[in-house]
Amino acid sequence: MRQASLFDMGIDGRLEPSALLAAETAPSAFASVLVDIPTRSLSEPFAYAVPAVLSERAQVGCAVLVRFGNRPALGYVIARADSLADLPGADGLDPAKVKPIRDVLTEPLFSSVSAELALWMAREYVASPAECLRLFLPPGKSPRLKRREDGSYELERAAVREASARWVSLTEAGRTYEVPVRASRQRQLIQALAAGPVTTHELNALCTDMSAAIRALEKKGVVKVEERRAWRGVAEGESRLSSARAEVPEQLTEGQRSALEAIERARATHAGDVVLIDGVTGSGKTEVYLSAIERVLACGQSACVLVPEISLTAQTVGRFRSRFGDAVAVFHSRLSAGERLDQWDMVRAGAARVVVGARSALFCPHRDLGLIIIDEEHEQSYKQGSAPRYHAREVAARMARRYGCPLVLGSATPSAEALARCRRGSFNGQRWERVEMRERPGGAVLPKIVVADLRREFAGGSRSMFSKPLYDALMGVVERREKAVLLHNRRGFAPFLMCRECGCVPTCKHCSTALTYHERTHTLECHTCGAVYHVQAYPSPASKCPSCGSPYLAKMGVGTQQVEDALLQILPKDVAVIRMDADSTRGKDGHAKLLEEFDAAECAVLLGTQMIAKGLDFPEVTLVGVVNADYALKMPDFRASERAYDLLEQVAGRAGRGERPGEVIIQTYLPHDPVIRAVASHDRSIFTDHDRQMRAEALYPPYVRLAQIVVSGRDRVLAERHARSLAAALVDLFGREASAPAAVASLSVLEAPVVLGPAPCVIERAKDRFRFHLLVKCPVDYPVSEAISSVLAEVGEQRGLSVVVDIDPYDLM
Ligand code: ADP
Ligand code: ZN
Ligand code: ZN
Repeated sequence: MRQASLFDMGIDGRLEPSALLAAETAPSAFASVLVDIPTRSLSEPFAYAVPAVLSERAQVGCAVLVRFGNRPALGYVIARADSLADLPGADGLDPAKVKPIRDVLTEPLFSSVSAELALWMAREYVASPAECLRLFLPPGKSPRLKRREDGSYELERAAVREASARWVSLTEAGRTYEVPVRASRQRQLIQALAAGPVTTHELNALCTDMSAAIRALEKKGVVKVEERRAWRGVAEGESRLSSARAEVPEQLTEGQRSALEAIERARATHAGDVVLIDGVTGSGKTEVYLSAIERVLACGQSACVLVPEISLTAQTVGRFRSRFGDAVAVFHSRLSAGERLDQWDMVRAGAARVVVGARSALFCPHRDLGLIIIDEEHEQSYKQGSAPRYHAREVAARMARRYGCPLVLGSATPSAEALARCRRGSFNGQRWERVEMRERPGGAVLPKIVVADLRREFAGGSRSMFSKPLYDALMGVVERREKAVLLHNRRGFAPFLMCRECGCVPTCKHCSTALTYHERTHTLECHTCGAVYHVQAYPSPASKCPSCGSPYLAKMGVGTQQVEDALLQILPKDVAVIRMDADSTRGKDGHAKLLEEFDAAECAVLLGTQMIAKGLDFPEVTLVGVVNADYALKMPDFRASERAYDLLEQVAGRAGRGERPGEVIIQTYLPHDPVIRAVASHDRSIFTDHDRQMRAEALYPPYVRLAQIVVSGRDRVLAERHARSLAAALVDLFGREASAPAAVASLSVLEAPVVLGPAPCVIERAKDRFRFHLLVKCPVDYPVSEAISSVLAEVGEQRGLSVVVDIDPYDLM
């Protein structure tokens, strides 16, 4: 830790009145203060003195006013000690030169453990500590200093105010009060209150305006009215969907029991053990979570459940609410600022002991956390796409270890990373255990999977979007008045070429990922290594299929809307077609409304992007169709297969959840792809074996660790040159290290880190900025964050360019 006084030279001498007093008093303690300036280079907290007058208030978690450089700055107390020697990192500083904290601006906002985690995140993800710490602060705009008229400073308060509700209740005297004969409103009011307090809002909704009656009876001491804090965001209608109720099953399945036992064992060790529940869709994972949480609550502890944003539907929330009632706080991106603040406060106040939310719910002020659950552990949305680019699974694992509580991961298609750690039995000093749940309760059968070979359809002369099997099945659904779900996924779509006769997709010879097609230049490009192939020259002359010589190389890509149009043409008018994609679900509750519409329809087809694949549980769905499975398979990304497998498995799991059997039809040009074969035969190992081998050979995670650096700027030459300098500096650093024995002693496949690129990103230009990236592959236990931090410091910043560091990246485009 550095000493603030070094930067504190140019003070103008004008101090705030209260702080003047404070500064004159001798220090009573010392504090580590994280100055709120979000830059990567300001990576350490600074030591400040705590004047005696502020001693009571300047606790860990408080926002404080300090001098930084010659300016007033906002800071956060992250540690406190009686002497400098006891303050971590401050040993050796001269107490006389350490500057005082000027003022305390808030009550404590976070715990010392949160501060510790924030600093860890900053190091691990090469991010700014201030930015990481902000994750743990109450929701709302980032706090800022505001200067008052008198020259002193205060913290700019969020525009959001706490909401309150007026509660009306009967007083002791009111219970025996005789209502005058003609006061019928008053009688009505007393009857309404007989069972307990009611809010004025509800009273008015139930019996029209009651304010006069309330006033009259309040005067007589019959009722009393109290203001109480209201928690916004606890929506009433959330469990309206027919399947949202979560009845307690009479008996748990064998798989569920063994999963619960594993969680109990992990709780008993207090070591932050990880339990991976590897259970097919519909095997009852959610029921395991609910039972485990029940036990945790019974011990007076709290639980945090992370769910991918897109499955944070009314259905999911309803299942938790119907089991735990008001003890549930919910966080999703559709909450208003006021709702978010209230949900957060519910957690802080201990009013909610179960938190269900997207990745950021991890940072709530949990009280005595006894369990962390991450559902759909493999989901990409657990990785934050903007700084700090953390992965919720990794942060949760760290938290679990810190709190000594279990981390439960659930998935029907666990990530390669989680599976690898379970095979090893431990990772980073934590135990990783896998529990399998293979069966659906009540013996519900797995759906029948049909693969519709689009090559054959093409050869047969069909130019329709729907193959014969899918068309026939849709007509069957219409006839039986049932429901169907159609998936059309093209998220993160990069155009590629595909042979319509054999399904071949050109891939890079060096990277084995699909090549991206650039229509303008008629080239195929690899965005991992930068190789460019002219379509004419790849690898046989003329635009012919490299594998079968067919001239029918087609550029792939139709939107959801086009599929909807085609559907409307073939379906009778009385079948509801509900399209769910980014456009149709905009706005608050847009998603939930469409689902309710689908739920209420008698016979309907739900057509959507990957957002429909998750968490929907409609027993009447008997058909699931995948319009084209190949988009997902052929992304230029080593995780493309993993995601495609997950998507298909998830969407297939939507069929036949009720009594009637389900059918799944997957349309593809690639019927022999291991992903398609694995889904079709309900045998995951066909895919995982292939995927593991591919990753091991091409050196991808979990066999190596990956880090990505993206340099972007308006000046293409400058951006590329800077990317090259960074790459060169990294190569240099790794070269120097390679001669040291430590790196050679590594046990992983890769002996020392390597640098790939720089190459233009798949998305070469965004908002007029040119983008270049380089990838670092290193042994799994290599301290890559440290290496990158030091290289960034060495190379320095360049005006007009931005440098994004992504450790364990998921978005390689
Ligand atoms: P998953 O989360 O693994 O997809 P769910 O928890 O949604 O599975 O369970 C699928 C269905 O099975 C739900 O309707 C749930 O209520 C029901 N279910 C779960 N456990 C049991 C059980 N032990 N007995 C009977 N039904 C169960
Ligand atoms: Zn071909
Ligand atoms: Zn390549």
